[in-house]
Amino acid sequence: MRKINIFDTTLRDGEQSAGVNLNLQEKLEIARQLERLKVDIIEAGFPAASKGDFQSVKQIAETIKHGSVTGLSRSVQSDIDTAWEALKGGAEPRLHLFIATSPIHMAHKLRMTPEQVIEAAVSSVKYAKRYFPIVQWSAEDACRSELPFLAEIVAKVIEAGASVINIPDTVGYITPKEYGEIFDFLRKNVPNIEKISLSAHCHDDLGMAVANSLAAIEHGATQIEGTINGIGERAGNAALEEVAVALYIRKDYYKAETGLNLQEIKRTSNLVSKLTGMTLPANKAIVGKNAFAHESGIHQDGVLKEKTTYEIISPELVGVQSNSMVLGKHSGRHALRNRVVELGYTLSEAEINKLFVRFKELADKKKDITDDDLVALIFEEKFDLFKEFYQLSSIQVQYGTNQIPTAVVVLMDGQGNEIQEAATGAGSVESLYNTLERCFKTEVKLLDYRIESVSGGRDALAQVFVKVRVNEMETSGRGTAQDVLEASAKAYINAVNRVFMIEKMREENQKVVIKN
Ligand SMILES: [Zn+2]
Repeated sequence: MRKINIFDTTLRDGEQSAGVNLNLQEKLEIARQLERLKVDIIEAGFPAASKGDFQSVKQIAETIKHGSVTGLSRSVQSDIDTAWEALKGGAEPRLHLFIATSPIHMAHKLRMTPEQVIEAAVSSVKYAKRYFPIVQWSAEDACRSELPFLAEIVAKVIEAGASVINIPDTVGYITPKEYGEIFDFLRKNVPNIEKISLSAHCHDDLGMAVANSLAAIEHGATQIEGTINGIGERAGNAALEEVAVALYIRKDYYKAETGLNLQEIKRTSNLVSKLTGMTLPANKAIVGKNAFAHESGIHQDGVLKEKTTYEIISPELVGVQSNSMVLGKHSGRHALRNRVVELGYTLSEAEINKLFVRFKELADKKKDITDDDLVALIFEEKFDLFKEFYQLSSIQVQYGTNQIPTAVVVLMDGQGNEIQEAATGAGSVESLYNTLERCFKTEVKLLDYRIESVSGGRDALAQVFVKVRVNEMETSGRGTAQDVLEASAKAYINAVNRVFMIEKMREENQKVVIKN
């Protein structure tokens, strides 16, 4: 069996999805889960992009003990220096350098001749090799590049010291057959190519990212880049869980395997979906809600008699649990702590104590506390990092079919001042959001609003996801509560707080720039 390395870019390419702005705590949690999933390489961000990116890449590099943490870098020395500062504390530092190689990108974006591009690529790889034991080099827009030129530049960067060569389909344009042919061409025309690792990076604009990645494996790629749930810019990246399970289920055909712990797939998928606010379609392969649901009578009958009649993947393989453990009113702190650990979360003693209080409050109102409920509470406790901005004190909403919905909201701002406002709206959520907008004293445009129940039952927790635009910035927010209006208010405040947090960081970054 050939070993295929899994390069996860959920925190870099995935985080570039429209409306996704993860904070440091959220990124760290995803990185830790990727470590449990046993991905080989975590691309933690683009260190030179901003001070915030630098900090998160640095912290992730210092946190991850098993596997390599990498960061993206343009082919300029200052980017490489910054990346080294961020990554040098990692277990296995590596750099991901890129430069565009297609005629269209070289002429219009870089405004460089092909010779200048080769020169920049070679000198940046040489420069990076002074620091980094492993340098990965990417030909941006490789699939629209001229093949002889691609082979020439790849040969030269290998000579300069690159040990991984990535061939990205940046714009999601290639077909599986053509993509395979590019790998064949390079393997035939680049000297020393057998000494390095070839990598595939595919986008899903035409729905072929996973198929293209698998084609690359058939034609010599030994590394696949992608994201959890296939999130990413536009139509997203190759979904790593699909690539990994396809290789596992069809090992007879591909004769290749990953080192992933497949049983962590479901948990990783849930975490990424919740923290990014990007929900999955029910029919999504491997991790969708219906991926293992057999609806037709004939199929159900078949599966009951013998699972493999219609089921090619067992839910247990990817960590889908049919019976989740239930805690209740009489469960103690010890049982709670055990369950939190079993669910894969790391909480400090202080966080456990706060969680226990929330758990008891919920257990008074709700008979069975499921794993999903517990995860929702953990998220509220662990990822609510915006307390320095607005916090909800109380809401009151009046609604009746014959009256104008009216809301009264009390918030605390970062300085501990109380803000109280009231407003009306056409519905109760609208009245609430109109009131909150008054509290924020800034225009908030609601782009999307979704509500779902955390588990089944009438007493289930409500989880609200919103997408908003404030000051030209799009961001998402989430809130959980037993009441739908309270969850709605929390989601809105969470989204707006996220915008203020980003703006504040930007201000701080600018200050740093001026100081320099
Ligand atoms: Zn990409």
